[in-house]
Amino acid sequence: GCGICVHKCPFNAITIVNLPEELEEGCVHRYGINAFVLYRLPVVKEGMVVGVLGPNGTGKTTAVKILSGQLIPNLCGNNDNWDNVIKAFRGNELQNYFEKLKKGEIRPIVKPQYVDLIPKAVKGKVRDLLKKADETGKFDEVVKELELENILDREIQQLSGGELQRVAIAAALLRNAHFYFFDEPSSYLDIRQRLRIAKTIRRLAESGKNVLTVEHDLALLDYMSDIIHVVYGKPGAYGIFSQPKSTRNGINEFLRGYLRDENVRFRPFEITFTKTGERKAQEGEILVQYPRLVKEYENGSFRLEVEGGELYVGEVVGIVGPNGIGKTTFVKMLAGVEKPTEGEVDWSLTVSYKPQYIKTDYEGTVFDLLSKIDASKLMSNFYKTELLNPLGIPDLYDRQVNELSGGELQRVAITACLIRDADIYLIDEPSAHLDVEQRLAVSKAIRSLMAKNEKTALIVEHDVMMVDYLSDRLIVFEGEPGKYGRALPPMGMREGMNRFLANIGITFRRDPDTGRPRANKEGSVKDREQKERGEYYYLS
Ligand code: ADP
Ligand code: ADP
Ligand code: MG
Repeated sequence: GCGICVHKCPFNAITIVNLPEELEEGCVHRYGINAFVLYRLPVVKEGMVVGVLGPNGTGKTTAVKILSGQLIPNLCGNNDNWDNVIKAFRGNELQNYFEKLKKGEIRPIVKPQYVDLIPKAVKGKVRDLLKKADETGKFDEVVKELELENILDREIQQLSGGELQRVAIAAALLRNAHFYFFDEPSSYLDIRQRLRIAKTIRRLAESGKNVLTVEHDLALLDYMSDIIHVVYGKPGAYGIFSQPKSTRNGINEFLRGYLRDENVRFRPFEITFTKTGERKAQEGEILVQYPRLVKEYENGSFRLEVEGGELYVGEVVGIVGPNGIGKTTFVKMLAGVEKPTEGEVDWSLTVSYKPQYIKTDYEGTVFDLLSKIDASKLMSNFYKTELLNPLGIPDLYDRQVNELSGGELQRVAITACLIRDADIYLIDEPSAHLDVEQRLAVSKAIRSLMAKNEKTALIVEHDVMMVDYLSDRLIVFEGEPGKYGRALPPMGMREGMNRFLANIGITFRRDPDTGRPRANKEGSVKDREQKERGEYYYLS
């Protein structure tokens, strides 16, 4: 395997040369002539969390819409009623499911993918929204589990992304349904919050409910699912649901690009976790030494203390820690957007910054936007090979910026940041809305641009796989979210990951076949052994 191939444009190159013939029978929905086609559907199993893993644009949300009764599949013809759907699935486990769905005996509930849209549709206070959703009488329990006590009296309009995500998940949990669908529940959450919702979702299944979840954070998907489906195909053209697989096998087959039972190679290369140009911590030329910094906001409610440290030329430093601990505040001080209360960022270095929440009000095409920043980079073979092609940017050139999907906008914003000439690149949460291949393509592009251009990047990130793949060193944030935060000086990966994971109380092991990080179940033999030895994380 060649890892993420820079020359092959990973996620555009996913093509299956011949569609197997028997697939035509499994044709579930076609949006129109020459439009996207969905083949097969996932299973739904009582008492189980069924995970779904696949690239953006391969029909995962479409499948959720069908199983939740929002979309009657046209069976790739002109069908418009459930009876034909029931007939088409005769002998399949889904026959029974669709019969009940039609009779209204099954009540589905969906946590939608884009929680950012909720404030446009719902007004009012969090408490009122959740009280209205509460059909189970579990208001207090769910509020506590998702740590919503402190925001119950806030307006929906004022919530951060991570708060909206937890409110949306809570609203779904409070409903009395049979089938619960969570479409990308991890966006904007920190690792501790991700594992918390994973446990909550697991408990829901254990109480006998059916749960389906679409998720791109591999460590989380792994932790939460009983079985998974891999979705493969050609994004925007067609998508095929695989057979259900054990979680470990399914994820490993996905990474290898080869489905064994189906005998299908859906990607010409394997995804591996070997970093390109492995570098030793604290090696080479120092770019800058930043001093101790303190930030207190006017209202005096939050205090951040940053211990001084040094940054090296060519390195990528991951920034990890819970939400509300001051990561964005730190990045903003380095970018010159916020002024420290004590200390001074008095360097003459230039900074390029991608904020966490991206604005979409730009009027014009992607090409306009990017060429205004630096048109020469769009023509450069180096940038085409290292950045633009791997991120699929040329395919987006003619699109209007304000019509891009979340994942498309994220890739454009990352590109806009990286084509600007600067000494330091500050990138706040690049993984939001990206699929696994895109996350790795972005990670690889950042690493190679920093190494080859001899620049430095600081990346705030919550996806453990991405942090692991991206970072040469880590800045760990500790403290009490919303009250005070402390940023430790940059440290090596082993020390940093151990410190960071010890704060959350979670251990990771490596999958022996693919080398990917896997979260240990709490209290398992491995978990206890690793905690005893203080090895929360294995580098290799
Ligand atoms: P995923 O959830 O895997 O990202 P979706 O199910 O949202 O994928 O979309 C799969 C494909 O179907 C995309 O190319 C999308 O543009 C297309 N699509 C989604 N909804 C519609 C629709 N109502 N009409 C036409 N095409 C659609
Ligand atoms: P993180 O990036 O780690 O999630 P932030 O730096 O965004 O954390 O926020 C840290 C704390 O500071 C939070 O409690 C947040 O509400 C608060 N905060 C952030 N910006 C401001 C501001 N401009 N005024 C007052 N408080 C703020
Ligand atoms: Mg989707």
